[in-house]
Amino acid sequence: MSDNWIVLIPQDPQYLPTPEQQESASRRLREILSEADEIEVSVSPTVQYFDCGGNFESVACPHCGTHLDDGWWPETMSDDYDDGFKLAQYELPCCARQVGLQDLVYEKPQGFGKFGLSAMNPGFADLNEQQLKELEEILGTKLQKIYQHI
Ligand SMILES: [Zn+2]
Repeated sequence: MSDNWIVLIPQDPQYLPTPEQQESASRRLREILSEADEIEVSVSPTVQYFDCGGNFESVACPHCGTHLDDGWWPETMSDDYDDGFKLAQYELPCCARQVGLQDLVYEKPQGFGKFGLSAMNPGFADLNEQQLKELEEILGTKLQKIYQHI
């Protein structure tokens, strides 16, 4: 058995919507993805990693495109983690620029945040642009969409 999740996280990893916003966004997502097995809200006082599971293909430098999967990325992930991600700035091994883990180019997309709103097994349903915008208005933030396959 495998599960597919659509996960929505704020573009700003530090952003935390109010409980009222969370509640109302969760209710709206339940209406939009009515086929989903479950709608889940996750809230953490520290920044967490929202991965894309089996959809992971690569992680690359946003400046020069070099793949960083081997060595640098896993090491930096563990250096950055201390009861939550600090999202500090690090010098890239490829082109020596400074980035945070949230600035890297992930295929498929994944990200970091204190808040996530997820739908489990939505079937063939997906959020269109307008529905995403509606949830962004409810939550007061731009959102990033992650497709997680477990
Ligand atoms: Zn680079």
